[in-house]
Amino acid sequence: MSFSTDLKAGDRLFVISGSQKGKIGTLKKFFPAKERVLVEGVNLAIKHAKANPTANEPGGRVKKEKPLHISNVALVCPKCSEPTWVRHEIIPPAEEGGKKRKVRICKRCKARIDE
Ligand SMILES: [Zn+2]
Repeated sequence: MSFSTDLKAGDRLFVISGSQKGKIGTLKKFFPAKERVLVEGVNLAIKHAKANPTANEPGGRVKKEKPLHISNVALVCPKCSEPTWVRHEIIPPAEEGGKKRKVRICKRCKARIDE
């Protein structure tokens, strides 16, 4: 199975396997080289942080996301709200003012994910 390496900050991701299975969150950070994603509110670990007055952080027990492998997540389509896989479509220059553009297409509902 191939997984999408074409993820963008702000994408909603659904966890399809592992201990966090079934959770949905927003992509905070994507590490393409490591094939890992940081998903907001998912895979939380408690960290003991020192107080940092300059950043106005009180310290103590802080919940922090740990990265997940991208094979454990699927993109949630903003159009049909279902976890899905994407294919790509190249929009020819004529349609987009001279600039060729690659957009993601939901395999489920066939809608364009990227405007
Ligand atoms: Zn869809």
